[in-house]
Amino acid sequence: MTATHEQTAGCTWPAGCRNKVGLQPAAAAGGALRCSWHDPDRRGAQLEARKRSGGQPPVTVKDEDLPVQEINSLEDAKALARWLPIAIATGRLGGREAQAAVGALREYRMALADAGVMQELERLVADARRDAAELADLRRRVAAARERGVEV
Ligand SMILES: [Zn+2]
Repeated sequence: MTATHEQTAGCTWPAGCRNKVGLQPAAAAGGALRCSWHDPDRRGAQLEARKRSGGQPPVTVKDEDLPVQEINSLEDAKALARWLPIAIATGRLGGREAQAAVGALREYRMALADAGVMQELERLVADARRDAAELADLRRRVAAARERGVEV
């Protein structure tokens, strides 16, 4: 795969994507290079493969659906912490992605000097993780009930 080596630019997804792996010209994007996630033609196949493998639920969150694009303030961190459990419960965010988001919140917290702010963020992250666990459990139960043919 020498092509991957020669590519210096990343995916051309307009909202911004740093992916440089698996880039291919996307017909739906006029032949512009896209990663498999941002190539509409390949994304469907990727989701199908993931469903068939019975792995994590597909992650369908789009950049524009995120509550914040960066964590630059406590308000950004709070917005992300409030959004996480809902995104997990509705299947928009997979477990691994949620872990990464929690990790990002934790790093932001560590960068903050103010002890009061840190405590509040610590509580928010703990709340978010607890809510996420509860809602993920609920989602599993609903899925199990549906598999048994129960109208939910
Ligand atoms: Zn991309």
